[in-house]
Amino acid sequence: MTPIITTEELSVTFARRRLSDRLLGLSPPPEFNILDKVSLALMPGETLGLVGESGSGKTTLARTMLGLNRASEGEIRFEGRPVKTQPDFRMVRRKSAMMFQDPVASLSPRQKVGALLTEPFVIRRMAMHDRKATAKSLLAQVGLPASFVERYPHELSGGQARRVGVARALALKPSLLIADEPTAGLDVSVQGDILNLIAELKEELAFASMIVTHNLAMVRHVSDRLAIMYLGRLVETGPTQDVFDAPLHPYTASLIKSEPVPDPRRRRESLAIKGEIPSVFRRPQGCEFHTRCPVARELCRAATPSYRALSGNRTVRCHFPLENRGQEPEVLNSAFANSRGKKHDQVEYRST
Ligand code: SF4
Repeated sequence: MTPIITTEELSVTFARRRLSDRLLGLSPPPEFNILDKVSLALMPGETLGLVGESGSGKTTLARTMLGLNRASEGEIRFEGRPVKTQPDFRMVRRKSAMMFQDPVASLSPRQKVGALLTEPFVIRRMAMHDRKATAKSLLAQVGLPASFVERYPHELSGGQARRVGVARALALKPSLLIADEPTAGLDVSVQGDILNLIAELKEELAFASMIVTHNLAMVRHVSDRLAIMYLGRLVETGPTQDVFDAPLHPYTASLIKSEPVPDPRRRRESLAIKGEIPSVFRRPQGCEFHTRCPVARELCRAATPSYRALSGNRTVRCHFPLENRGQEPEVLNSAFANSRGKKHDQVEYRST
């Protein structure tokens, strides 16, 4: 089956020019990878949970996939075809929909809900009475009464605004939905409703979706697969249940263990994440997670782990995946020896 969208070693570089550099006439400005060689594939009808802390690069990845950020390296393919030019990206955006983080701010305050929902149909020259009927049927699809066509966004609650956002995103029946923090700012009780709504509509309309979130627990029940990001790189991917049952990367394990436990008498095993995510401007040498990793060793500080494909449709970027703790990684000794003192060296693995 052809994936809806793939990224192959996708990187986004940011040039940081400081005022002092400009005054001194220094050029070119130093460059930093906000996204570093990210390879992902999203299959038709699949839901992928893209998870990471703020600053991990997940929103940058989502925007770059739709051509809203420019990639510095790598390739994007949509329905098997390479996407390179602006017309290519326009085609991708026509067949895709993106829901942005703030449900109310993403709706124009001057337009009524009816007009917001049918905006795409104006360009298609749909007759006014058909547009009204379409708006009402879209509202029904997301569980809102037809009378909402006359409301302005400021008259909606956060949950209602998010439902209108879902209806608007799905108006043109996209083959891909990218939802960036779709439950941000909503009450916990409403969060589940919105996720269930997206899941139900996905069944009905058969689109693929990527849910971008910092909240691993939130996507647990609605994602088929998870992709965990840290500092602009993918660190683990795999089927959702397998990742929860046996996380391979210490960062994933820490995210799972830091989720709140409903029963206060139950204690979590200690594998807490220490400190803050570092800045991409000061990417740690070796494994980028070693400054916070509870099981880091000397090798982790010296050499960047390679990305490894494992059985069971899983991948991980770690010298010591948790399933193999206690065992030494099967690295090429010479590669490790050569990695000492070098920046961002790669250690090769014999096999997995
Ligand atoms: Fe932790 Fe080392 Fe694995 Fe990085 S490579 S996640 S520091 S064990």
